[in-house]
Amino acid sequence: MVGRAATDCLIIGGGLIGMLSAYELVQAGMRVTLLERGRTGQESSWAGGGILSPLYPWRYPDAVSDLARWGQARYQGLAEFLFEQSGIDPEWQPSGLLMLAVADQAAALAWAEHRAVTLERLVDGEIARCDAALPAYSGAALWMPDVAQIRNPRLLSALRKVLEQQGVVFEEQTEVLGFQQQAGRVTAVETTRGVYQASKVVVASGAWSQMLLADIGGAIEIEPVRGQMLLYKGEPGLLKTIVMSYGHYVIPRRDGHVLVGSTVEYVGFDKSTTTTAAEALRQVAQTLLPALTDVEVVQHWAGLRPGSAKGVPYIGEHPDIAGLYVNTGHFRNGVGLGYASAKVLGDIVLERESDFEVSRYAIER
Ligand SMILES: Cc1cc2nc3c(=O)[nH]c(=O)nc-3n(C[C@H](O)[C@H](O)[C@H](O)COP(=O)(O)OP(=O)(O)OC[C@H]3O[C@@H](n4cnc5c(N)ncnc54)[C@H](O)[C@@H]3O)c2cc1C
Repeated sequence: MVGRAATDCLIIGGGLIGMLSAYELVQAGMRVTLLERGRTGQESSWAGGGILSPLYPWRYPDAVSDLARWGQARYQGLAEFLFEQSGIDPEWQPSGLLMLAVADQAAALAWAEHRAVTLERLVDGEIARCDAALPAYSGAALWMPDVAQIRNPRLLSALRKVLEQQGVVFEEQTEVLGFQQQAGRVTAVETTRGVYQASKVVVASGAWSQMLLADIGGAIEIEPVRGQMLLYKGEPGLLKTIVMSYGHYVIPRRDGHVLVGSTVEYVGFDKSTTTTAAEALRQVAQTLLPALTDVEVVQHWAGLRPGSAKGVPYIGEHPDIAGLYVNTGHFRNGVGLGYASAKVLGDIVLERESDFEVSRYAIER
């Protein structure tokens, strides 16, 4: 172990959650080293759609809605700051979210009123008001005009660059294998490239987090949930809004690309793509936006979401090992929840008073 930078905190996992955690801690003056098994930002965080709201948000517990709301109020500012500092535009934009064929509309409207969220019920012809490109739908739809999106790969690149500017040390191709502890405190982690010492360690290893913690107890329950996506290369302006129906969606990017997603598959750590999913997503695309029928599909990929019960992430200190923290299990909403989740982690690590009810995210909740 030669010439390692002294560090106050090791973060395990270079996805969005690990990098946003690093961002939060480095702002508070900590020296942070991030350990990544492969290359940063190549797993679930890269694969995601970047919608900055849970889908059908009224179906989630307050623990999720509170994180989403905090991030929704601040993501634009973060994106602008990262763009300014890095020269990479994460392309934050308020596309709005149109949801068709929603069965529990009354619950949605009640939730929106209770939480003071803008959510409108549109009927038939009113849907064209959201996006003239959409075909005529019969029946009522729900419209959330304030929902924004961000382009994950760009967000990750910008964040990485800014973290480097701020002194975060990145150790890639470094897989964490286990932890060392003394008298109930974490002291170091063992990796494929030797031992790294620190008195604080954050596990932000996405779908692999449970595996990493399996040997030391204090169980968290996270399972990989595969999601497949198709990418169409359309012309700019082809679609303006995010549209959903029966759990599937189309997301317009600024340059005309349209993402179509996604599957929800419990197949273990298998990240392969399937022709069945491609066909199903093509059907979704053509139904939601018939103009896509003649547009070329340029990419098809899969990512492994860190699935957790009700989508509530684990954010907190290990009950038996002081200095060992987790920030993981964001399931379908890690991009939208990640900024607030890093804030909660920062509150806990730095023993700050928190605006959040942190016990709801604890490992032993
Ligand atoms: C198809 C799809 C669509 C999605 N759409 C959206 C969306 O629209 N909006 C939204 O908010 N969310 C969305 N998500 C979910 C979101 O992408 C995830 O919740 C989020 O990216 C999780 O981030 P993470 O950093 O925890 O995980 P990851 O991005 O998977 O990062 C974990 C990292 O840890 C590393 N790692 C693992 N084990 C080790 C180890 N032992 N040592 C070192 N490093 C290790 C991995 O290599 C990886 O880089 C989507 C996900 C998918 C797959």
